[in-house]
Parts: sequence; C-alpha cells; structure tokens
Amino acid sequence: MTAAVIDGKAFAANLRGEVGKLAAAFEQQAGRKAGLAVVLVGEDPASQVYVRSKGKSTLEAGMASFEHKLPADTAEADLLAVVERLNADPAVDGILVQLPLPGHIDEQKVIATINPDKDVDGFHVTNAGRLAVGQPGFVPCTPLGCLMLLKDRLGDLSGLDAVVIGRSNIVGKPMAQLLIAESCTVTVAHSRTRNLPDVVKRADIVVAAVGRPEMVKGEWIKPGATVIDVGINRVAGAEGKTRLVGDVDYAGAAAVAGAITPVPGGVGPMTIAVLLRNALVAAYRNAGIPLADGTI
Ligand code: NDP
Repeated sequence: MTAAVIDGKAFAANLRGEVGKLAAAFEQQAGRKAGLAVVLVGEDPASQVYVRSKGKSTLEAGMASFEHKLPADTAEADLLAVVERLNADPAVDGILVQLPLPGHIDEQKVIATINPDKDVDGFHVTNAGRLAVGQPGFVPCTPLGCLMLLKDRLGDLSGLDAVVIGRSNIVGKPMAQLLIAESCTVTVAHSRTRNLPDVVKRADIVVAAVGRPEMVKGEWIKPGATVIDVGINRVAGAEGKTRLVGDVDYAGAAAVAGAITPVPGGVGPMTIAVLLRNALVAAYRNAGIPLADGTI
C-alpha cells in the first residue's frame, strides 16, 4: 500500500481563506477589526521567525496585529503588566505570549495572567479544564489542527483506536482529550511506555508528538492506519545542509499507512491557520456576536 498524502498546506490555506471571509464579516458587524496581540521577550531566532510570520498572517487574514517586543532582561512583573494591559484592551481579542520565555520568568504565571477568553493558544488551566469537561473554550492550535486533518480524512472517528505518542501540555494531552471527545479509544504513550511498537500497531490513528527524528518505524504501523506526524526536527542533510524530518520514518510508514502527513507541509502549516481561527472565534465571542458552532 502507498499512503495518501494528507496535504496540510492546502487545508491550512483554505482555512485561512475562510478566516479571512469571516474576519471581513466581523469587521462589518462589529465596526472594528478582530485583533491578535503577540508578545515576544528576547531575541531567540526561531521565536522571532514565528512571531514575524504570525503577525504577517494576521494582517493577511484582515485582522489587526499588535506586536510587543520586549528585551530579554524584562522583569517578570513588567511582562505581567503588559499582559494585564492587553487583557483590558477592547481592541485585542486574542493574546499569545511566545514561548519559551527567558529562564527568570515563570511561564505558568504568565499564562495564568492571560484572560482565558483571550487565551487563543489554549494553554490557560481554565481552557485545559474546559477541554477536559467538554465546555467551549480555546484548544491549543497544533492538536486542533491535527483533529481537523483527521476528520477531513476519516469523517466520523467514533470507535477508532488512537495512539498519541507524547504527553506534553501543548500537544499530546490536548490531542488525547480531543480524540476522547470524538469517541475514539485513546492510548497515550510516552517515554516510559513499554513495547511502544506493539502499542502503535493496534492503532487506526497514530499521532506522533515526540521530538525524536524518525523514531516511529514503518513496521510499527497497522496497515491502512492514518498517521499524523507533529514532529519538526532539523537533521543533517546532504552537502552540509540541514533538512526537516518528522517523528515518523516517512518512507517506511507511507508504505504501510492508509494516509500520512508529510514534514514539512503537513501539521506545521495548520498551527498558524488554527491560531487565526481561534483569534477570530475570540473576537466574535468577545463582541457578543453569535457564530454558530462548526462555522469554522
Ligand atoms: P515535549 O518535549 O514537550 O514532549 C515530548 C513527549 O514525547 C513527552 O511526553 C515524552 O515523554 C515523549 N517521548 C520522548 N521520548 C520518547 C520515546 N523514546 N518514546 C515515547 N515517547 C517519548 O514536545 P512537544 O509536545 O512540545 O513537541 C513534540 C514534537 O512536536 C516536537 O518535534 C516539536 O518540535 C513538534 N511540534 C510541532 C508543532 C507544529 O506546529 N507542527 C507545534 C508544537 C510542537 P515523557 O513525558 O515521558 O518525557
């Protein structure tokens, strides 16, 4: 079998188009643009790239972008004050503090300070709790993007066996919660899991969020399974260059799976598209304008 390639790039482009249309409708109804604020502390090169790209995408979607770049030695209290100001600003619907933060700042304290109704990353414990008990809130962008790809590919997920490899707060745990809500039978694997290949072999759906290049092998995959590779790992390539690979051995898995996301071009592009989606949903909610469930 050769797996179908799940084109996250195309799906994300389509989602961004839908967000753009709804952002224009929001502006008409609310008399203002939906607004997303991104806060960056320090000069981490990868974070700078992410923040630039988030700002550009926000503007392209017809939303207002507010960027706050603070020096690496910003005191925790000063960062918290910036977050409080954004919480109180009616032009700001969504707030994202780019992680990781410098070591002297307590990330959990910063996340806890964001108004949960503006927490478009879905990292606040209130939103984690809402997800766990099935209340509307904000779901972390990467796992929500994975779920969108899965539902687009498979339709009803009810009754399927799913294995999520990784239990981080930003990917693995919320991914498991989302799959439980879709009535999958969910196993969460991690570094202490015994016989990981056997665990993965049972799964109709495999979500790999480990951070280890090409760890999941083709022999582990059940024939016909759907494989979602969240991993983004830079490894040495040909002629002294580097290349990106996922957490799954793509060639091996693609020979067995029914469908698989490539790296790059799979889950990666979904994260920003879902961020824009979350910011727009926040705008509708904050402005008290109804937006039917499942519209976007
Ligand atoms: P974390 O490092 O926070 O979590 C990794 C998880 O993998 C942990 O739960 C860890 O287990 C588990 N793990 C580590 N080694 C093994 C092993 N040998 N066998 C089984 N499980 C193992 O990573 P993140 O969740 O933040 O990210 C995971 C990957 O996804 C990374 O490659 C990251 O770059 C990528 N990513 C991609 C995004 C995108 O936009 N596409 C967004 C976010 C992340 P334990 O808990 O026991 O330590």
